[in-house]
Amino acid sequence: MRTFTGIAASPGIAVGRLCVIDRRRATVSEYTVPPEAVPFEISRLHAAIIATRDDLESLKSRLAASTGEDHLFFIETHLLILADERLVSETVAIIETGLINAEGALRRTLNRYQDLFSNIDDPYLRERVSDVETVIERILRSMVGEIHAEMPHNAGQTIVAAHDITPADILQFDRTNVIGITSEIGGRTSHTSILARAFEMPAVAGVEGIADPQFDGLPVIVDGLSGHVIISPDVQTFQDHLKRKQHYEYVEFELLKNAGLPAETLDGHPMLLKGNVELPEEGASVLKHGGSGVGLYRTEMLFMNRSAMPDEEEQYNSYRAMQSAIAPHPLTIRTLDAGGDKLLEGMLHCCEQNPALGMRAVRLSLNMPLEFKKQLRAILRISSIGPVKIMFPMISGMDDLLQVKGLLDQAKQELTVEGTPFDSAIQIGVMVEIPSAVILGDLLSREVDFFSVGTNDLIQYSLAIDRSNEQLAHMYQPLHPAVLRSLRQIVLHAHAAGIDACLCGEMAGDPLYLPLLLGLGYDELSMSAASLPRVKRILRRITRERATRIADGCFAFATAAEVEMFLKREITLDIAESFD
Ligand code: PEP
Ligand code: MG
Repeated sequence: MRTFTGIAASPGIAVGRLCVIDRRRATVSEYTVPPEAVPFEISRLHAAIIATRDDLESLKSRLAASTGEDHLFFIETHLLILADERLVSETVAIIETGLINAEGALRRTLNRYQDLFSNIDDPYLRERVSDVETVIERILRSMVGEIHAEMPHNAGQTIVAAHDITPADILQFDRTNVIGITSEIGGRTSHTSILARAFEMPAVAGVEGIADPQFDGLPVIVDGLSGHVIISPDVQTFQDHLKRKQHYEYVEFELLKNAGLPAETLDGHPMLLKGNVELPEEGASVLKHGGSGVGLYRTEMLFMNRSAMPDEEEQYNSYRAMQSAIAPHPLTIRTLDAGGDKLLEGMLHCCEQNPALGMRAVRLSLNMPLEFKKQLRAILRISSIGPVKIMFPMISGMDDLLQVKGLLDQAKQELTVEGTPFDSAIQIGVMVEIPSAVILGDLLSREVDFFSVGTNDLIQYSLAIDRSNEQLAHMYQPLHPAVLRSLRQIVLHAHAAGIDACLCGEMAGDPLYLPLLLGLGYDELSMSAASLPRVKRILRRITRERATRIADGCFAFATAAEVEMFLKREITLDIAESFD
């Protein structure tokens, strides 16, 4: 038995078998072959291509059955590349003229494509080479007998371990098979962890050494409550964790029973509690957990795992599906927030030195106004069907906000001319997640209908701590006095301008912070669906006056640790059992 400790990234306990994903390149050697061996080498190439196509086809049908058709574009693209005659004819020519073995020849073909693509000016086309690389690595692995990094199908028992698991990876997992994840890097607020929580998949991040291939296939426990990963547990440990798992699931089940009660304080003050979602199928879960709408719909997942942007119609259909899943409740749609740790592989230039400070979110949208307008039009069209708000990520000041509003006006004008209906009074909001937006809150608040604080990024940018860096996780402090002052300032600016102050970062879903956020005056909190019942339970047990006193009290301390101690002491006086 070996116990590893990491960061508890998504709650729950998963017990299964470890599948270690190793993304190294296939090990291929090049050698010359005698002329009489040429037909044999060519037949090996053909056989490997057929085997790879069969693998992809079966992966495609498994995914279609388990996660729906929405995210299969990447496989379609890979099948198209595989069917390209030039790939075969060029490789065959190298085998014939150079008398080179099939693997060596295929590697040379890949090198040639890499050279060709690197000379292309258009960054979008240049990045397409990654699809070609993936397909050729697959064929090479098949030729040299290395298995492609793919899940064994253990029907609901697979726990994936990798050095890094990206949001795009997690979307591709067959969720009837993969029940937990663990990675060597990453943090609690990285987007992979956020998705794991959305899918109620226990996860532990930042576990050094967990992706060692020697662990592949071994029994494992991923404890997303304590942050432990235990490989080959002994009988006692196994039984203890099964009990912990049962207890956790029992408490979750009990909490659900009260999920439908009103979201209001003990003295009857309402507070909006909503869900954060990434995919339309999560809408039902928000309602089941007692959410009164969606406060953050992260649209970027629709743009992942594919080689071209979704067009307006496809976006419309997706947003429509989300809207009807939560109707008649309101839906806040956030425009594309790609970049940072949410790279759109194959679509965008992704080699920035500093992605978190680079071409991400609204900057990226403004950099491709035609694509951006498609998204704005699709959202506007949904607003004619039900209550929809629109929100812009990573606004840094008035320049980008006014540009965004200009494009929104253009999209509205186009729809008006076409006679396409939309809500002309659609509410717009900015995400406050860059310190400059906090400081300029008085100006920004005059231009919009609401603020929504993205604490995940606000903490990252205020404290200069990468939210995905497991080594600095202890310094990523939501209760840091500088963060608290920003949170207070944001509400003051919002309320002075008569607009709502909402908060949709991961802080919203931690019950410990509820009294603080309520006491500061936030009007709405939006969180992962599974967090809603616990947060609502605390809300219903506290008066607003008491919350205000607690929030004020937090400002008496100089360090996050002191604030945390204070909050825990205050809350556990009479509502301790809520933290079971
Ligand atoms: C945030 O930054 O807090 C937020 C809600 O957005 P995201 O996590 O998608 O960056
Ligand atoms: Mg953010």
